[in-house]
Amino acid sequence: MNKVCKIAALAGDGIGPEVMREAIKTLRAVEKKFSLRIELTEAPVGWAGIDAAGKALPDATLALCRQSDAILFGSVGLPSRDPSIPKEERPERAALLRLRKEFSLFANLRPVRLPLALAGSCPLRPERQGRGIDILVVRELTGGLYFGQPKKTEEVIDLPEKNGPGRHYSRAIDTMVYTTIEIERIAHIAFQAARLRRKILASVDKANVLENGILWRETVTRIGKQYPDVALEHIFVDNAAMQMVLNPSRFDVLLAENMFGDILSDEAAALAGSLGMLPSASLGTTTGERTFGLFEPAGGSAPDIAGKDLANPIAQIGSVALLLRYSLGLNEAADAIDQAITRVIDSGLRTGDIYQKDAPGTGKVGTRAMGDAIAKAI
Ligand code: NAD
Repeated sequence: MNKVCKIAALAGDGIGPEVMREAIKTLRAVEKKFSLRIELTEAPVGWAGIDAAGKALPDATLALCRQSDAILFGSVGLPSRDPSIPKEERPERAALLRLRKEFSLFANLRPVRLPLALAGSCPLRPERQGRGIDILVVRELTGGLYFGQPKKTEEVIDLPEKNGPGRHYSRAIDTMVYTTIEIERIAHIAFQAARLRRKILASVDKANVLENGILWRETVTRIGKQYPDVALEHIFVDNAAMQMVLNPSRFDVLLAENMFGDILSDEAAALAGSLGMLPSASLGTTTGERTFGLFEPAGGSAPDIAGKDLANPIAQIGSVALLLRYSLGLNEAADAIDQAITRVIDSGLRTGDIYQKDAPGTGKVGTRAMGDAIAKAI
């Protein structure tokens, strides 16, 4: 790789700086091993941004993101800080939602992998876990019911019939809208992701009831013709939710519209046993061989354990692997990180969130020791 990859690292609040430190350690290890040229610049965001520059997303941080190929994000938000600051200026909205909007991040990828060695952390009985759980949920992030117009609550007055009383009540309206353009672009992301995995794609819809579901199914089927090497099945969302707990190992990539994906990705996340294990990617536009994206742990700033060397850095380190794979196309380097995580888990190291007292051959370690072990295993 000749061209320099520019990464903006925004650690944020709570456990953000601790887990980011370990993620950067791992990134430096793969950089060395694969002779990558990475220019990583750190900048404040969240309460750290407010403290440094008076804003949750300081202008200089936003400018850095605009000049970068990808953002490695920690987490933002400290619920107990300064309740007088209005919610529009608080980090969750003013930094995270703003970045998602600013960079039109329309595809959310959430891989859920439960290594066999962590079978005990999964809420499902071992026989339900099959050959192990390894699912990628691809969720459309900018359309559907959450954004469609009209979206409002209105007062309704029914005129009285004959001499009967009139009725006065409220009515809430949300609108589900998808265009073929929106479905096509997320379908391409899902098929391409399936190509990097076991090449099985389950597209989720509600085509038996929703017009959106019919268009979704027709469009995904049409795009699927361009990916004959990927096995495509269509599954109704209610059945998908059920299969996720009855037989999760049947899934490879799950593609869903915004609301269905929101629900299914949290259901899938519960199977991994801890938020500390779950990375995520939000992808935007592709230019040449690079796709702009924001990569972050699925969990938040975890103020209850911040600064105590208790946080699991694996979600943040896994986010580096996603960045290398989906933004920069560096699959070998990404594989090296995923394999290093698996090796360290197999060796028995556990942070508190995934530690089980009676599991033989395991030992509890802190954030730093877990990060050191993964970087060493690269
Ligand atoms: P949280 O995800 O921060 O924590 C929930 C629970 O999971 C806590 O018990 C925490 O200790 C645990 N946990 C989370 N990550 C962990 C890790 N890496 N290792 C071990 N345990 C971990 O959710 P919350 O407490 O509801 O929110 C705290 C703050 O984070 C809030 O301000 C919220 O708005 C914010 N938040 C930010 C993001 C983001 O930046 N993307 C996402 C979710 C929540």
